[in-house]
Amino acid sequence: MSLHTLTLAQAAEKVRRKEVSSVDLVKALLVRIREVDPRVQAFLDVNEEDALEQARLRDRESPSGALHGVPVLLKDNMNRRGTFCSCGSKILNGYRAPYNATVVERLEKAGAVFLGRANMDEFAMGSSTENSAMHATRNPWDLERIPGGSSGGCAAAVASDMAFGSLGSDTGGSIRQPAAVCGCVGLKPTYGRVSRYGLVAFASSLDQIGPITKDARDAALLLQTIAGHDPRDSTSLPDAVPDYSKALEQGIKGLRMGLPKEYFAPGLDPQVEKLVRAAVEELRQLGAELVEISLPHTPYAVAVYYVIATAEASANLARFDGVRYGHRTSEPSDLLDLYGRTRAEGFGPEVKRRIILGTYVLSSGYYDAYYLRAQKVRTLIRRDFGEAFKKCDFILTPTSPTPAFKLGEKANDPLQMYLADICTIAANLAGICGISVPCGRTGGAGKPLPVGLQFLGPSMGEETLFRVAGAYEQVCRWDRNPGL
Ligand code: GLN
Repeated sequence: MSLHTLTLAQAAEKVRRKEVSSVDLVKALLVRIREVDPRVQAFLDVNEEDALEQARLRDRESPSGALHGVPVLLKDNMNRRGTFCSCGSKILNGYRAPYNATVVERLEKAGAVFLGRANMDEFAMGSSTENSAMHATRNPWDLERIPGGSSGGCAAAVASDMAFGSLGSDTGGSIRQPAAVCGCVGLKPTYGRVSRYGLVAFASSLDQIGPITKDARDAALLLQTIAGHDPRDSTSLPDAVPDYSKALEQGIKGLRMGLPKEYFAPGLDPQVEKLVRAAVEELRQLGAELVEISLPHTPYAVAVYYVIATAEASANLARFDGVRYGHRTSEPSDLLDLYGRTRAEGFGPEVKRRIILGTYVLSSGYYDAYYLRAQKVRTLIRRDFGEAFKKCDFILTPTSPTPAFKLGEKANDPLQMYLADICTIAANLAGICGISVPCGRTGGAGKPLPVGLQFLGPSMGEETLFRVAGAYEQVCRWDRNPGL
């Protein structure tokens, strides 16, 4: 068995038993990356020397943490001291992190080794990774197609066995949608479950860090490592962290599964719908009870998101002005010229579009009409979920309305691109948790493409998500090898 095909949990177990060394694991991945990444382009940086050095150090210690000696991959928007962090943007060109994000600190404490930086849409704005200022990433299942986004580098790397597991971020679907279209497991934790300290902010009331992995067990393992209260993030929740891996084995007998009619609307690809409905049947066989539910404010979610997320982004991105971080224009005539030209040169078109939109909805005269109204509808969306979770324990939906689309297909049509997140965005607005798991592949002409199934849980309902994902994974057998 080649080492690169291991899961995170298997790799950790092998190191613990001293069957392989951390250096062996890193070397196996480096070989795989050299072979596959020229075609997939999931990485922005592979820290070859640094990763090997970390691995050598781990091999000298006696294994203690849950991830001792195991390489993990980070999306390029998490700070790790001394290394580049560009958010897929030219404006952070040359910026090196002066400190560690809390997730990095916790992974380090668990013994993990950092492999490099995964490509992403610039500042996490996008659903295809085509908005990266460096290069697009390709879907390992069909190199002509997008890997999803914005955490497309993470999903593509994990799907093609170039990484055992990774951390992405999800503001409106950026963990779950790429996981779905690449055939991985992706979990967006409850808002406040994982510290955002050291994650470069896109929309602070929506952002969460979470795992993109090969299976549910690995997602549980990574969440276990990174979850929990952090005094450095004032939105972090104090709740104790349960044993997520235990939940995987508990089964779903008697759990009530809510099916929201609004998520099975026109626009849903028939092959996706078929696989999702088949999964509903399988979950019933496993003992879940089906309840029809309604989330009536669903049709407003995308519009509300693009007011709130852009408003927050316009404020968060004001700090990139050439004074303190990254790119600075040459020979500015005065301070305003420095700001103006630095930002004009440093930001890509999608980021500029969002800053303009966000500034507009916050401006005097429009604030009440757009921003305030969006906040009110956000409350209604949150209440929809509150009502729904009185009737069911978890909600089942497609993750993405379509399988991976072609590179370039939606690149010039922002509205079509925004609709790729129609099934994932409401969970961020409501602050609840969600997981995407593979539920099969498309058939017919063309290459088979993975399809994802989404389970949504109430606030702090991650254990329930792992119960369902763990049980479903046992019955949904499919070949997760994209053949690269
Ligand atoms: N695709 C959505 C957007 O473009 C969500 C991105 C994300 O979750 N970071 O904003």
